[in-house]
Amino acid sequence: MQLIAATGNLHKLGELRKMFPEHEILSAKEAGFTGEVEETGDSFRENALLKARAVMRATGKPALADDSGLCVDALKGAPGVYSARYSGGGDAENRKLLLKNLEGAEDRRAHFSCCIALVFPDGRELIAEGRTGGQILSAPRGAGGFGYDSLFLSDDLGVTFAEASEEEKNAVSHRGRAIAKLREML
Ligand code: IMP
Repeated sequence: MQLIAATGNLHKLGELRKMFPEHEILSAKEAGFTGEVEETGDSFRENALLKARAVMRATGKPALADDSGLCVDALKGAPGVYSARYSGGGDAENRKLLLKNLEGAEDRRAHFSCCIALVFPDGRELIAEGRTGGQILSAPRGAGGFGYDSLFLSDDLGVTFAEASEEEKNAVSHRGRAIAKLREML
């Protein structure tokens, strides 16, 4: 089956192609969709559905989209759906703001969450969610990954996501788990 991924992120595309070798995954751009979908929802699920539905309508093909972020207990779930735009700057600024907002906090529990939606032109919608737990360190560790990886000490791995290999991270990550669930549903 041909699936259109509502992302231009090469990292995500590569991961999807690895997880769905039996399907042909095209990026939205490759399928002729160049528009931007605004993430106006207040949950990962809403945002994933918004993006997948927009790309499905524009291309007429089954479309896949995901939305993800970091939820910190002591910050009542923030930055959550605002993870990418937390500071108004890039990844480094986002990490800096997170550390500032957690200064002196004893409770450093957090989880990454990911929702992935696959919507079909006939109206069927498959939705899968994945989570992974950990602690926010007070200083970054590791050189790999992106976003908040270097601050996230994974419960499952005992190292930060930036210290883990891509395979190790994918095996326990929120996105890896959501994709695995979607695979089962398919
Ligand atoms: P999006 O799902 O591409 O909108 O990503 C949301 C934001 O959440 C990213 O820009 C990162 O800041 C953060 N994020 C999501 N997944 C991860 C991850 O696996 N590692 C680190 N940061 C992540």
